[in-house]
Amino acid sequence: MQRILTRGEIETLDRTSIVRLMLPKPNAFSIRAQRLRDLAPDNPIQDYLLLIAQLADAQQQVFEQEWSLPALNETQLAQAQAHGMPPFSASSTPRNDVWREMFRAILAQLLQQVTLPEPVRANVAQLTNDIRNNPELIELQADALLNQELEEIDTARAPFIMAALQVYWSQLAAGLNSKQIPAHTPFGVCPCCGSQPVSSTVMLGGPKEQIRYATCSLCSSQWHIVRVTCTHCEDTKKVAYHSLEEGSVGIKAESCGHCQHYRKIFYLDKEQFAEAFADDLASLTLDILMGEAQFYRANNNPYFWQAAEQ
Ligand SMILES: [Zn+2]
Ligand SMILES: [Zn+2]
Repeated sequence: MQRILTRGEIETLDRTSIVRLMLPKPNAFSIRAQRLRDLAPDNPIQDYLLLIAQLADAQQQVFEQEWSLPALNETQLAQAQAHGMPPFSASSTPRNDVWREMFRAILAQLLQQVTLPEPVRANVAQLTNDIRNNPELIELQADALLNQELEEIDTARAPFIMAALQVYWSQLAAGLNSKQIPAHTPFGVCPCCGSQPVSSTVMLGGPKEQIRYATCSLCSSQWHIVRVTCTHCEDTKKVAYHSLEEGSVGIKAESCGHCQHYRKIFYLDKEQFAEAFADDLASLTLDILMGEAQFYRANNNPYFWQAAEQ
């Protein structure tokens, strides 16, 4: 009897015709903010989603301003090509000080919002103060976040620092052209900046119909990962799907029995407006279910950090 190919195998056969990488969209943050607002009503973390919507709005405004960012130099480009490494590796590329200017601008936008809750306002004001008077502290926290040193992370400050790093790296990535990125980069990390994905999305319509893309948690680039493959360890044999009984059928957790990790996966044919960051954050109940099933989140949503387990 002839064996029928799985969807993953069919996709592998046809890999040459698939667009491998999509650089960040210029309105990525405003799409995120809108989706967060749409998801907020009746969500168990409604107020938090609305706060992050305000943060994403501030990110969009700062993203659209003129910043002079360091261009990719020939040495970086040659090294990336020679070693098959992301050209703007977040853990090894020195950050230009302009990222702290972007950070200050994001916080200034937030402070103008009259609806900002009082404890958040105090936190944002203190961060603003530290950028000016204690930049080394901010840099150390940024290093800890980019290197996933969870025990060093201040969870209340992390979403704001990450927001600035996202704007900085999204601008760097947006300035690349696809030809500058090596054809093969390590599995499971962003081809532009080497960061882990926040979630993955199965596309709808056109040539990308039913093709799955991972979204970078830092620069928002999206890259192709064959379906029914663990986005964390690349295993294909012990992948399973979980969803909430009362939840959307377009939102699932893709778990892996090989590495015991999971990430969310969104299906645009069933949840048309799913957004990689917003829908991940708004489906915290699914994370609780996965924790009960003894699976670990592969990495944090950049807008929501949990304290390292003692
Ligand atoms: Zn990236
Ligand atoms: Zn795995």
